[in-house]
Amino acid sequence: MNDESNSVDKTTSAMQFKAETRQLLNILIHSLYTDREIFLRELISNASDALTRVSYEMLTNRDVIDPEAELAIHLNVDETERTLTVEDSGIGMNAAELAENLGTIAHSGAKAFLEAARDSKADLTNIIGQFGVGFYSAFMVAESIQVFSRSYRKDDLAAVWTSDGTETFTVEPTEKTNRGSRVVIKLKEDAAEFLKEYRLREIVRKHSEYVPFPIYIGESSEQVNQQTAIWRQTPRDVKTEEYQNFYKQFTLDSDAPLTQTHMVVDAPVQMYALLFVPAHLPENQPLYLRRDAGLRLYARKVLIQDSCKDLLPEYLRFMQGVVDTEDLPLNVSRETVQSNRVMAQLKKLVTNRSIETIKTLAKDSPEEYGRFWSEMGHLIKEGVATEQTEGEALYPLLRFHSLQHPDEWISLDDAIAAMKTGQKHLYYILGDDPQSIAHSPHLDYFRKHQVDVLMMTDAIDSFMLLRLTEYQEHSLMNVASAKLELPDLPADETSEEKPAEDISAEKMSALSIRFKTILGDRVTDVKITDRLTDSPARLVDPEDALNPEMQRVYRLLEKEYTVPKKILEINTHHPLLMRMSELDSDDSRVKLVVEQIYEDALLIEGLHPDPSSMIQRIQDLMQAALNAPQHASGDGLKSQE
Ligand code: ADP
Repeated sequence: MNDESNSVDKTTSAMQFKAETRQLLNILIHSLYTDREIFLRELISNASDALTRVSYEMLTNRDVIDPEAELAIHLNVDETERTLTVEDSGIGMNAAELAENLGTIAHSGAKAFLEAARDSKADLTNIIGQFGVGFYSAFMVAESIQVFSRSYRKDDLAAVWTSDGTETFTVEPTEKTNRGSRVVIKLKEDAAEFLKEYRLREIVRKHSEYVPFPIYIGESSEQVNQQTAIWRQTPRDVKTEEYQNFYKQFTLDSDAPLTQTHMVVDAPVQMYALLFVPAHLPENQPLYLRRDAGLRLYARKVLIQDSCKDLLPEYLRFMQGVVDTEDLPLNVSRETVQSNRVMAQLKKLVTNRSIETIKTLAKDSPEEYGRFWSEMGHLIKEGVATEQTEGEALYPLLRFHSLQHPDEWISLDDAIAAMKTGQKHLYYILGDDPQSIAHSPHLDYFRKHQVDVLMMTDAIDSFMLLRLTEYQEHSLMNVASAKLELPDLPADETSEEKPAEDISAEKMSALSIRFKTILGDRVTDVKITDRLTDSPARLVDPEDALNPEMQRVYRLLEKEYTVPKKILEINTHHPLLMRMSELDSDDSRVKLVVEQIYEDALLIEGLHPDPSSMIQRIQDLMQAALNAPQHASGDGLKSQE
């Protein structure tokens, strides 16, 4: 018998759970997890999904079983039988669907849980609730479960799925005339608490208060969940705490959102919206935020789409919440919803409000905004890079680390406020990571004059810089460009250089010729510069080169990439070069040093194709250094401080 399929055993007609499912069930049945109550949240959430699907189907197709039935969830208990029943009038399942859906693992939370189970030794039974393992979680409290179901399709027959959650399950024909599913749980002896209606009421209020369908308990059919949509209330009547509770139940994120905004709009379209800025990206918290990107869209109280991606631009995909309008026709389909004129208006309203809300957060709570920026900042940069019209509106939201503020987030406005007298431009440096650009020779001048430079080390930065070229009439300039305009500033007194013992012009040009001969056509030219102080050399672009942002874009897109030829600028005041100018032209160490200086410069630019290829040369250099008689003055070591 094949383990991996639901193969039918002919004598008992029992089907095997898939191996993965058995593994999950085994953990659940034996778990001592204390918050077992979450199983009810999972069953109610499945019922709610089934109701959403049938209400959606009925927008275009009334030819279903029970078209007039109330869309609702009923919880009932039978103390003598020790059963708890969760019943819905949702989409239902036929026999094949029962076998397929309840024999395998569909739930993403359950998959994540099993992955964690495979590679961690942690006590998994403590965290089941955080993963949300779906239907199977009911086996934490069940001796056995029966699911009676009747599909909405008139031709499908009713069937019942039965299992004790160990090896197998059965699916058999049954009598059920009304549409939907009835999950009957025979409770374990130690789970009798779930036979008490007050206990069920408590659990529903805690975990399922905002389910968009009524939940009734018991014979009296008392409705337990609140269900007046929170976003349709007057904003001043809703407490922050209520917004946060709604958010937590809506997303299953255990952290409160950073901020929220509640919109009630009458014109040009009538809409209500509740938008949240989460504290982290879903992909960084896969266990908690159990929603896809997109906002939940209702039209006249009918749920049109659970995760509608057309209400916000791509880059705002971290936003969570609900949009509810009176102006979308109910016969709008998932396919036509995008092209609807009202959708364009909703999108504009929601997008503008989202940006405003984030701006307010930045202004009123810089610390929270720092958290936001660390998680979501690259998406705002993506917005600058990709948005045709509103990109500029995002500039004030940008934050950077900088030469003067390596550990803080500064805005472009901060950078302008800190400009030196005589400084016209804003400067930035582009690189792969903060550590390597910290040593960049391009920064020599800026360090010396304490002029700030913004660090651009995110992959998205080079794309962003193709758009972001100016802010408040100050151009943004790359410090690596050869023809950079620098403000005329006095050198900072404290870092004033000791007067350089100059080498003769003759020796200088001889040295630059030696560089040229050794490097050949790896560089377009070798030039002597006085822009450098601490660094021996740097690479700059020749006049006709592709700008560095584009070069980097190409490299990141993995277009055909060859090391671009650049100009090597050398600093003849640097001790290393001064010493070289004294060596014989046939001294073998010169070639090694020239090659290494060039490759160091490549490395610092993030352009070196294969850094490990330098190892042999570095060893040769070390050998040469150890062979040389020790320098009495220790001159050779000075350049390293
Ligand atoms: P998930 O709900 O995340 O898909 P579950 O394991 O909880 O994972 O459920 C598996 C599948 O079984 C669902 O995707 C759905 O197709 C089906 N299902 C579960 N409960 C119901 C229900 N009450 N009505 C209709 N279908 C259901």
